[in-house]
This record gives sequence, C-alpha cells and structure tokens, in this order.
Amino acid sequence: MIKNPGVQHGSGLKGYQMNKIPVSILGATGAVGQRFVEMLVDHPYFEIVALTGSERSAGKTYGEGCRWVLSGSMPEKVREMVIQPTNTDLPGQVAFSALPASIAREWEPQLAEAGYAVCSNASALRQTPGVPLLIPEINYDHLAMIPLQHSQLGWKGLAVTSPNCTTNGIAMTLKPLDDAFGVEAVFVSTMQAISGAGYPGLASLDILDNVIPFINGEEEKIQAETNLLLGKMIAGERVAGNIQISAHANRVPVFDGHTIALSIRFRNKPGVEDAIRVLENFRGPAEVQQMPTAPSRPIIVRRELDRPQPRRDRDAGSGMSISVGRIRPCNLFDLRMVSVVHNTVRGAAGGSVLNAELLYAKGLLNE
Ligand code: NAP
Repeated sequence: MIKNPGVQHGSGLKGYQMNKIPVSILGATGAVGQRFVEMLVDHPYFEIVALTGSERSAGKTYGEGCRWVLSGSMPEKVREMVIQPTNTDLPGQVAFSALPASIAREWEPQLAEAGYAVCSNASALRQTPGVPLLIPEINYDHLAMIPLQHSQLGWKGLAVTSPNCTTNGIAMTLKPLDDAFGVEAVFVSTMQAISGAGYPGLASLDILDNVIPFINGEEEKIQAETNLLLGKMIAGERVAGNIQISAHANRVPVFDGHTIALSIRFRNKPGVEDAIRVLENFRGPAEVQQMPTAPSRPIIVRRELDRPQPRRDRDAGSGMSISVGRIRPCNLFDLRMVSVVHNTVRGAAGGSVLNAELLYAKGLLNE
C-alpha cells in the first residue's frame, strides 16, 4: 500500500493543496535536486511537501541551504521550506531521489519498504531484480516487474529508476533502430557536460581548457543499462538485450548537455534515409505522449551538417527531446550518428518525473 493514499482524491493532508499528490525531493540542494524543484514546483499532479539534504544543509531553509545554480531565481514556494534529513517519516507518498548512490543505497530500499513510491535517479537500485529501469517511451512494459517488489522484496511501496544520463541518450537513439533493424554492436564515445558531476563538481583548474578521459563507472553503466532498457519482458521477467557495446566516456568543458558519437552495426542493414525515417517517426506509446512532461517528439532529427550541438540542442522539447544528427555511413560498422541529451532534464530529473507520471497514469500511486 503506497503511503498516504487518497490525498489525490481530496482527503488532503493538512495544509497541502487538494487534488495533488504530495511528494518529497531527496537530495534537493544538488544539481539534479534543483531540476526536480524546477520541474515539480508547478506540476499538475504533484506538490512538493518536503526537501531533504545532508547534515550540511538539514535544518536550514532551502533559501539558506541551497546555492541555486539554475537559470532565474529559486521558486518562492520552496524558499522558506526547512530542509530535512532523509528519513522514513517524510510527508507525502512519492519520494523523488537525487541522492548520491551510496546514500541512496541506504535509504531508497527503506523508503520503498515503508510504503513510498521511490522514483530514483541514483544507480543504487538500477540493477536490483524486480526494480524497473525505465524510459517511458521505450520500455514502459517493464512496469510489469513491480509485483515482484511486493512478493520478493517485501516492499509495501515500490521503486522505479531512471538510467544514467548518457545511457538515456544512447538507449533512446537505439530503441527505434533496434526495433526496425536489429542492433548488434555499438561503439560509443561521449563528451559529457560538467553538471553531470553534480555541484560543485569539478574544479575549474581541472576542466577548463581540458578534456578528462575518465568518468568513474560511466562506461560500465552505459554497457549494462542500455541492455536492460532494451531488454524484453518474457513471462513477467525482464530478459536483458545482448547488444555488444564498447564505450569511451569523456568529461568536456560544457555546462549542460551530453554529446554522444555512435557507430552502429545492424542485423538488417538500413540505408541513411531508412534510419532517418525511423528516428523521425518515433513517438513512443500514445498514452505516454499524453503525459504532462512528455515531449511531443522524443527524438528530433537534425539534418544540418554541424548539428546536434549541446549549446543549441540540449533544450529541445524543454530538455526532454533527444537530438540526433550526422547520420551517415560508417566504414567499420554500418551507420554513424551523434546524439545530444540534456543530462539533468531528460537524463535525470525529467526522466524521473515522467516515470512518476507513468505510475500515476497506470494507477500505481493509488493502490
Ligand atoms: P550533487 O549535486 O552532488 O547533489 C547531491 C545531493 O545529495 C545534495 O543535495 C546533497 O545535499 C545530498 N546529500 C548528500 N549526502 C546526503 C545525505 N546523507 N542525506 C541526504 N542528502 C544527502 O549530485 P547530483 O548531480 O545532483 O546527482 C544526484 C544523483 O543523481 C546521483 O546519484 C547521480 O549519480 C545521479 N544523476 C546525476 C545526473 C547529473 O547529470 N548530474 C544525471 C543522472 C543521474 P547537501 O547539499 O545538503 O550536501
């Protein structure tokens, strides 16, 4: 049973806006936590009722404890909210998690066990059996794993996870191509933005005028998570895909937006125009398209010779669309292309908000 059910039907916790589902943001002061605040502060289904932080900020107001690094001002609605330590007695029924993985590993299972619906960005539960790793447009059928959380993990609530930010852009690009032509192998090289390392992240003396050819754990996440996302549900269980992936992850001095260069080998060889047509026509399931945070076009194909670029394309579809371009033949595999994903929107907070909207649409927040 999800915590505090019925609030959305008007019973209301004292002081909360009627007809909205009360939600907490865990790790609300960080790079992803701030995106959650931005995306949830005027959300049609959800109302922010609690914000958590580490010992550094707990007890302070959000205005005092959070250095707002997004454009514009911190929303007034949250400025006076007092930051809490993460705990299992938070108000609300949904917990959006932007916790560091080590802290998430401790708290997310406890929150799910206590009855919350945890929508996480952290890697802690991404590979836990029974916990879906979700991008609603490409694998929302993986929600069918959730009953295992009740029967095998003994949780009263549930947890769903969003993939690693770069994997988001890779899996979104590959999914329509895999369905149409069968993807066998991918060589991928990434150019990842600074905000992907959180706040305050890298020292300017390390990243300005530089490229860092190492991001801890990133290449392994790309390889494992892409195959989970493109896996199929068979008899109620997720069977991972078996695409061979070789990844090189690099940090570059770009503020937001990860750029991903892909070379792809297919079972059924498509021409350039075949691939463009498939990518341009991709919309995802109709019911996902109706969700408030879903972009009308999850994938936007750029035909200019020099696009996509992070500065120009990361905000496509309010940061929720992946831009794909430079689709051309490959001398080693079959096709080459470049994708750009906004790492803290589609690749993090926006992905989790969309997951929560999917849970809502499927009645999984009302049980
Ligand atoms: P960040 O900027 O370093 O923020 C971390 C947040 O966690 C801060 O709000 C911090 O609070 C809080 N925190 C730390 N220890 C805590 C504790 N013991 N209890 C409660 N809160 C605690 O990191 P981020 O970039 O936002 O990343 C957050 C998560 O999202 C990570 O798991 C990351 O891997 C994942 N993710 C990030 C991106 C991205 O592009 N940045 C993309 C996808 C996924 P204080 O400020 O109070 O210390």
